[in-house]
Amino acid sequence: MKNLSNIGTIKDILSRHGFSFSKKLGQNFLVNPSVCPRMAELSGAGEGVGVIEIGPGIGVLTQELCAVADKVIAVEIDTRLVPVLDETLEGFDNFKLINDDVMELDLNELIEREFNGMKVVVCANLPYYITSPVIMKLLEDKLPIEAITVMVQKEAAERICAEVGTRAGGAVTVAVNYYSEPELLFKVSAGSFMPAPKVDSAVIRLNVYKKPKYVLTDEEKFFKIIKAAFSQRRKTAANSISSTLGLEKSEVISALEDCSISPTARAENLTMDDFVKLAERL
Ligand code: SAM
Repeated sequence: MKNLSNIGTIKDILSRHGFSFSKKLGQNFLVNPSVCPRMAELSGAGEGVGVIEIGPGIGVLTQELCAVADKVIAVEIDTRLVPVLDETLEGFDNFKLINDDVMELDLNELIEREFNGMKVVVCANLPYYITSPVIMKLLEDKLPIEAITVMVQKEAAERICAEVGTRAGGAVTVAVNYYSEPELLFKVSAGSFMPAPKVDSAVIRLNVYKKPKYVLTDEEKFFKIIKAAFSQRRKTAANSISSTLGLEKSEVISALEDCSISPTARAENLTMDDFVKLAERL
């Protein structure tokens, strides 16, 4: 197994394949040898477990996952990395590459086809330009997965793992908490990547609820209300929701009062239960 977190080895592989980093695709490859084994371990990858990796790059995390899991399916958009991964993962017969855009894939179908009843987890160093869309796709598609362990920008990690009902939280915090229990695992400095990004990163794990924790009659409405409530953070939730959704302010205030929520509360003051009650009442 090649040491893919060694800068010399990476440079050699990349230059032999004539590869140059694409900023547009968020290509910052991990070069800190301690990060990938830790991520693989904390992701729940192991015996009897199948792993989906998004964006394997040259395969530094993939190698660690293949070493412990029963099967690893990696989805990589950049066709130039196909021959690189052929080389770096040679010898692992539990690895399969899908050269595609993760946003275009039917992941439920992929899991059924590839993992055949196995426990499944997601583990990835995500491309930063689509962090939230990828996380939301993984959650909204209601995949039969145990957990999502991903590296994201530190600020995104702190936002996602903030407590709902506090200033640090946002629409994404509420959305993620609806489907899972988020946990910030550890921080990773910008110098752990090549090329080094401008900001630090962190690894988070979303422990996906097997059964929905919150019961809603209209999920779509719930998400519209969250988005509207946080769309003008400085305003009260009543103002923000009424102006964004085109509702009478008095109607929103009376709904808030019926749910025992202060009419002057801001979105960041509302708890998960408040949002659920409000979506049911409005
Ligand atoms: N896992 C590698 C590592 O840790 O060194 C690379 C991580 S790099 C931050 C993100 C990877 O995601 C790149 O390999 C990039 O080409 C790939 N990628 C970007 N957009 C993607 C998409 N829409 N679908 C699948 N892979 C994507």
